[in-house]
Amino acid sequence: MVPSGPNAASSTEPTDRSQRFLVDAMFGTLVTYLRMCGYDTVYGPDIGVGADDRLRQIAKWTDRTLLTRDRELAERTDGSIFVASTALDEQLRSIAAAGVDLTLPAEPQYCGRCNGHVTRFCGDSVPEYAPEDRRLWACESCGQLFWKGSHWADVRDRLQAIRKK
Ligand SMILES: [Zn+2]
Repeated sequence: MVPSGPNAASSTEPTDRSQRFLVDAMFGTLVTYLRMCGYDTVYGPDIGVGADDRLRQIAKWTDRTLLTRDRELAERTDGSIFVASTALDEQLRSIAAAGVDLTLPAEPQYCGRCNGHVTRFCGDSVPEYAPEDRRLWACESCGQLFWKGSHWADVRDRLQAIRKK
């Protein structure tokens, strides 16, 4: 796979999201982006894992791509992605350069907060904090509601800008 150019698939076309990630500490925002892009993404600190060898072992045992800032750990772990930068745009570029398709899916798939599955909202009344005139989705694990608001648009634009460079 090559990093996407301006003519790459739009977010309405079906995309392969079978790759799953295990992400080292320090990448909190990146984790949210990966989940928004439709990837099952576990964040090390969320499962209490910081120790290098445990992280490596869990990635291997659960067939997840390890994403780490630890170069030595990355070199020892097959299929891992080394991300050096602390800046989000650079991190996204590193991941795109590794062949990961960073486009938003037509509908949200994973909760940015907890990685739970996201499904269409089926409630009969919309909570006060959510817009009534938008399609809503709900996290099956934590109950967080989602809609395509300004945050979704900001993330989409940022990802588009990354792909153009
Ligand atoms: Zn959730």
